[in-house]
Amino acid sequence: MIPQTDPGASYRAHQSEIDEAIRRVTASGRYILGPEVEAFESEFSAYIGVRHCIGVANGTDALRLAIEAAVPAEAQIGLTVSMSATATVTALVAAGKTPRMLDVHPADYTLNPDALNANSDAPAFVVPVHLYGQPARLREILDWAARHEAPVIEDCAQAHGALVDGRRVGSFGAAAAFSFYPTKNLGALGDGGAVVTNSDEVAERVRLLRMYGWRQRYISDLHGGNSRLDEVQAAILRVKLRHLDSANARRIEIARAYATAFADLDLSLPPTGGVFHQYVIRHPRRDSLRQSLELQGVGTSVLYPVPIHRQPAYAGFATTELDVTDELARTLLCLPMYPELTDTEVERVCHAVRHAVSNLDLGG
Ligand SMILES: *Cc1c(COP(=O)(O)O)cnc(C)c1O
Repeated sequence: MIPQTDPGASYRAHQSEIDEAIRRVTASGRYILGPEVEAFESEFSAYIGVRHCIGVANGTDALRLAIEAAVPAEAQIGLTVSMSATATVTALVAAGKTPRMLDVHPADYTLNPDALNANSDAPAFVVPVHLYGQPARLREILDWAARHEAPVIEDCAQAHGALVDGRRVGSFGAAAAFSFYPTKNLGALGDGGAVVTNSDEVAERVRLLRMYGWRQRYISDLHGGNSRLDEVQAAILRVKLRHLDSANARRIEIARAYATAFADLDLSLPPTGGVFHQYVIRHPRRDSLRQSLELQGVGTSVLYPVPIHRQPAYAGFATTELDVTDELARTLLCLPMYPELTDTEVERVCHAVRHAVSNLDLGG
């Protein structure tokens, strides 16, 4: 069986470097907020091209803390998408904001700028999601946000290293959130996250919020909490960061092989230009296609089967129909996508998809 994703393969690919990094931390006696976290923060901020990076416990916290630190209290409505990990909306609610979910663009499944233009909520802020590794339509979103004085907080959990006009995503908004969940393009061997920003004030606030509001030890200047990246994960992430560009290049290469193999099939293919956290195809008979691939030994996922605005906890947070989102959730399928897939495995996936789609076309 070829799995849809395989974080263990990424560990094995860099095992000696990672084991060495873990040994270094275990021997050091420093396990929380020490030299590894500091080094990772400076290496990751340099990579993204921003002044500050603050390591936190996970991606959901990163987004919550970015919002708490960078969005003024009067901007109560957070404009975002329903086509995302539930965590996007979870974080918004946890930050005390009111989500307003808008539809995505049919060409790239990211926030449709036309939906922003049709929106009359003010004052607001915007949380674009760079979904499946594909950058959101930042030029139009930033332009709308500037005209409405709405802060932009990027959800970069699926797009480490993706570029827009030669700049990395995460460097455009007032702040941005990353997740280092094991299956992400940059993944730890556990939980982890980071906020990045060019603002000294926002960075300072996130630093306080991640540890009890302490500027000085044992004295809370403001109400904070506990959301720290630990030394072991930071040391592992430093290893993985060195391999991120080549891992993303391999993802793009696999996506090209898929696109070439599927060019003549009756199948919707994903946009190019991102870093392919997922390779997402669409087919009206998605479930049959999935079953056929399963029988041929090819694992798939549906990310995400139920859009956030269709989930009981968040059903009230969309005020218009989200037709593209609903249609996408019915038809999308994520094929195997991780850098360690071999050429032979990629060929097997191509063959299996061609076989399955041709059979469905014949009414199979
Ligand atoms: C993974 C993910 C998150 C949350 O990250 P965690 O580290 O799992 O908390 C947030 N947003 C998106 C788009 C994600 O894919």
